[in-house]
Amino acid sequence: MPAENLLGGEGQGFAGIMANFQNERLALAVMAHSVAALALEGSLRYAKSREAFGRTLAGFQVTRHKLADMATLVEVAREFNYRVAARMEAGKEAVKEVSMAKNFACQACDRVVYDAVQLHGGYGYAKEYLVERLYRDSRVLSIGGGTTEIMKEIIGKVAQF
Ligand SMILES: Cc1cc2nc3c(=O)[nH]c(=O)nc-3n(C[C@H](O)[C@H](O)[C@H](O)COP(=O)(O)OP(=O)(O)OC[C@H]3O[C@@H](n4cnc5c(N)ncnc54)[C@H](O)[C@@H]3O)c2cc1C
Repeated sequence: MPAENLLGGEGQGFAGIMANFQNERLALAVMAHSVAALALEGSLRYAKSREAFGRTLAGFQVTRHKLADMATLVEVAREFNYRVAARMEAGKEAVKEVSMAKNFACQACDRVVYDAVQLHGGYGYAKEYLVERLYRDSRVLSIGGGTTEIMKEIIGKVAQF
């Protein structure tokens, strides 16, 4: 293919790679809120079915509070990701926002999958249960596509901290 037909043309490869980082980071942020949402779903199902000390886990206030915190993180991460996606779609500058979205969603996901495994007790550590897989999947999201620390460097640089 002639060079002028490539994204940005000859000599613009680095700019193309940098632009693609934005898409990759947003995709990872969306993956993070999606993994967290799956962990929440699995936890709700489990909490309503598992009985301990004469009631379901969902019958304990401490469990309901944990689920409320998980649901809050999922929803806030999802809404901010959508907002950043809309900003990108509108062709606006979003380098800082994408880095914030990735960090927030990945940290939210880490928190949610941790609580999901805890809520499942021993089963949370067993491969037969989805949350075990989600826990492992979550860990790589804040490493791939640029680590949490590098996202913070970018946020600081753009915001001129
Ligand atoms: C499953 C998987 C798939 C991958 N797929 C791809 C792929 O398809 N394409 C691709 O190009 N790459 C891919 N990667 C690589 C990924 O992008 C890198 O692992 C990631 O960017 C971190 O780089 P690193 O591993 O060299 O860690 P390092 O850069 O060595 O970082 C190690 C630690 O030091 C910290 N650190 C480094 N520099 C700084 C700094 N300046 N300030 C503060 N802290 C710092 C990091 O945040 C991290 O905590 C993949 C990685 C994994 C695990």
